[in-house]
Amino acid sequence: MVKVVVEKEPCIACGVCWALAPDIFELDPATGKTKIKDPYKKDDNEKQSVGEVPDNMLDTVKNAAASCPTNSIKVE
Ligand code: SF4
Repeated sequence: MVKVVVEKEPCIACGVCWALAPDIFELDPATGKTKIKDPYKKDDNEKQSVGEVPDNMLDTVKNAAASCPTNSIKVE
């Protein structure tokens, strides 16, 4: 499994990650920030949305992280 973390503070809700990895990322209407979708979500708090995705989604999630203009997505 691959750990994915979204730092909420710098996220500007540009939508790039939602477009590139719609199975993993979505807008959280409550905060106006990105969150990790339920099937993959492990934790969601004020600062971060944390998830785990299967290894076969590594390229997709890395691509989204590399394309995020504010560097808000970390892949571990
Ligand atoms: S690409 Fe980055 S800044 Fe844009 S919505 Fe996703 S996490 Fe937020």
